[in-house]
Amino acid sequence: MTVVRDVPKQLFIGGDWQDAESGRTLSVDDPATGEELCQVADASPADGRRAVEAAVAAQAAWAATAPRVRSEILRRAYDIIIARTEDLALLMTLEMGKPLAEARAEVAYAAEFFRWFSEEAVRVDGDMMTAPDGRNRLLVTRQPVGPCLLITPWNFPLAMGTRKIGPAIAAGCTIVLKPAPQTPLSSLALAEILTEAGLPAGVLNIVTTTDAAGVVEPLLRGGQIRKLSFTGSTQVGRILLAQCADTVIRTSMELGGNAPLIVFADADLDVAVEGTMVAKMRNMGESCCAANRIFVHTSVAEEFASRLAARMAALTVGPGTEPGTDVGPLIDNAGRSKAHDLVRDAVKRGATVLTGGELPEGPGCFYPPTVLTGIAPDSAIIDTEIFGPVAAIRTFETEDEAVAAANDTEFGLAAYLFTQNLDRALRVAERLESGMIGINTGLVSNPAAPFGGVKQSGLGREGGRVGIDEFLEYKYLAVPVGA
Ligand code: NAP
Repeated sequence: MTVVRDVPKQLFIGGDWQDAESGRTLSVDDPATGEELCQVADASPADGRRAVEAAVAAQAAWAATAPRVRSEILRRAYDIIIARTEDLALLMTLEMGKPLAEARAEVAYAAEFFRWFSEEAVRVDGDMMTAPDGRNRLLVTRQPVGPCLLITPWNFPLAMGTRKIGPAIAAGCTIVLKPAPQTPLSSLALAEILTEAGLPAGVLNIVTTTDAAGVVEPLLRGGQIRKLSFTGSTQVGRILLAQCADTVIRTSMELGGNAPLIVFADADLDVAVEGTMVAKMRNMGESCCAANRIFVHTSVAEEFASRLAARMAALTVGPGTEPGTDVGPLIDNAGRSKAHDLVRDAVKRGATVLTGGELPEGPGCFYPPTVLTGIAPDSAIIDTEIFGPVAAIRTFETEDEAVAAANDTEFGLAAYLFTQNLDRALRVAERLESGMIGINTGLVSNPAAPFGGVKQSGLGREGGRVGIDEFLEYKYLAVPVGA
């Protein structure tokens, strides 16, 4: 494929494309076929150190670059991404599996972070006030936090990168990016685009590696990285937080979810089913915001479940590159086995399968859209992030019961509720322990909104007006003014 052939396959350090020092490479595979797409450089800890040194060397000049210049680099990169939508979408579909229509939507979403932060780059404000005693003037400015390490997962290969790179560039920080080894190609393509848009050498450095722990830990302990922004599982987030504690590195943590979706008796069922399809099936269910636990009022549960099952059964499963595919393969066999094991466990404990639930034969990591009802409270699917196209439906009688069940999790990223009663919508939204709540919608992601979670779903926010704050430090200047 031309799009794969054209992407650089090396590490990007100090503005140069370089092989790993060891000469090692890692394999990038197509989850629809299981076949290798290409090899890219597989960095060692020494390569990671060189990337950090390049970021450190570029930091002072980059921080001193005019905000307008940083802004316009991001804006040019936005234009280039949009112009190359088709190539970037195909590249993403090949390395990650999502259908082309979804990949195109991700390209637009990813690009929007650059446009949004190009606008924010020139709006970093400060403050000036008179101290209460009337003598000092207090000047407050904001400065870039310094060299940042950004670690991203495979499920949104382009957008998880731009959501971090955009604000870092806007704030004047230099970057070492470590993308997931399953999907490095989108990030490597992004480095080329940013270079073309005028990003100076050393501001963005990329290390692809199969040795994440070995490469990252010394960088966090080395004293040069000032900020870690991580998106991934809560399990890995905890490890990285512990490492950052030792050197007191600032962190942003976008971690796992276990989103509840509540359908009240007074919901418009057409809207609720449509919203559930989006919240459950976007990205084949491989989304941190995916509806993981679906609670439906008993009076509408049967109707809702049968309508949802009909919609799920009508979806076309196949390679993301084929026109007409609604549901691509999962990322790998481990992801597919996890989803299937959760289904089998739920069925063993009494759940009913309305559609799906069978492991298909043949190559590729495909899994059918599945709807389960009658989930027993001890089923593993209740507490586990499914990360697959499996809808697990439970019922409730009262609002209090629904809220208590929804909050009964260590996670708190997204939640969804469907009701036509405005009082109830606002009342329940305030009681749900989640960073983001979709009311009569299954989509919460928006570059202009603060994305992030509470409880063990993370720390900090990405996007929105606050997204750039994660990459800035306050500095206060005390200025005595004579009488
Ligand atoms: P993951 O296993 O936590 O990996 C995420 C990234 O961390 C990968 O690049 C991974 O590289 C790296 N990593 C793993 N162990 C590491 C270590 N010890 N030190 C440094 N880096 C390490 O998560 P995933 O399976 O890729 O992604 C799925 C998870 O991400 C889900 O839990 C999902 O909810 C979450 N997610 C959250 C958000 C959000 O905004 N809150 C968005 C998307 C995804 P390797 O693959 O080489 O280990």
